[in-house]
Amino acid sequence: MGLTKEDKTILLLLLWPYAKISRLLRPHLDSIKNKVLKINKMATNRTFTMIKPDAFADAHTGAILAMIEKAGFKIKAAKVTHLTAETAGKFYAVHSERPFYQDLCQYMSSGAIVAAILEKDNAVADFRTLIGATNPANAAEGTIRKIFAKSLEANAIHGSDSDENAAIEGSFFFSGLEIM
Ligand code: ATP
Ligand code: MG
Repeated sequence: MGLTKEDKTILLLLLWPYAKISRLLRPHLDSIKNKVLKINKMATNRTFTMIKPDAFADAHTGAILAMIEKAGFKIKAAKVTHLTAETAGKFYAVHSERPFYQDLCQYMSSGAIVAAILEKDNAVADFRTLIGATNPANAAEGTIRKIFAKSLEANAIHGSDSDENAAIEGSFFFSGLEIM
């Protein structure tokens, strides 16, 4: 069955706004594409960190942030906050099957922390280099964990392990309005 004249009129009326919008946007497509690419590129230049309860309680926050800034990271968001065992459990859900999970949640909720979003080229990998190995016994000289960590668990600082997790972890703590 073909379209009646009335059907065609309705179809035209429905499609007209899309045709109009696409005609208006066409001359700006290149600049829109460049802006989207720039936003994406910025997203991959960010990482997320927490100064953990042991380092915060021992008043190492200033010294750690100084090392982070000296290494070329820009602080895009930062706050002192406190995890509950439940929110720590959500944050570290990826480790929920590991034997140390309960202890980790307890430790991460044992005191105040600093959460922050950092920006730099190659942020995730460069930040992991700056903080050093998970176990401070294996961390390279001059790394944040080598200097400030007390043990494998109380290892002073967190760093995201991928661009994807950096974005997820950043939005776990910060709303869009709180990020520069
Ligand atoms: P983070 O995610 O905190 O930056 P990481 O990526 O270096 O650390 P993960 O394997 O993700 O290391 O472990 C998360 C955290 O769990 C560690 O930072 C440490 O606090 C704790 N942890 C890891 N392995 C152990 C372990 N075998 N025993 C006790 N705690 C551990
Ligand atoms: Mg990790």
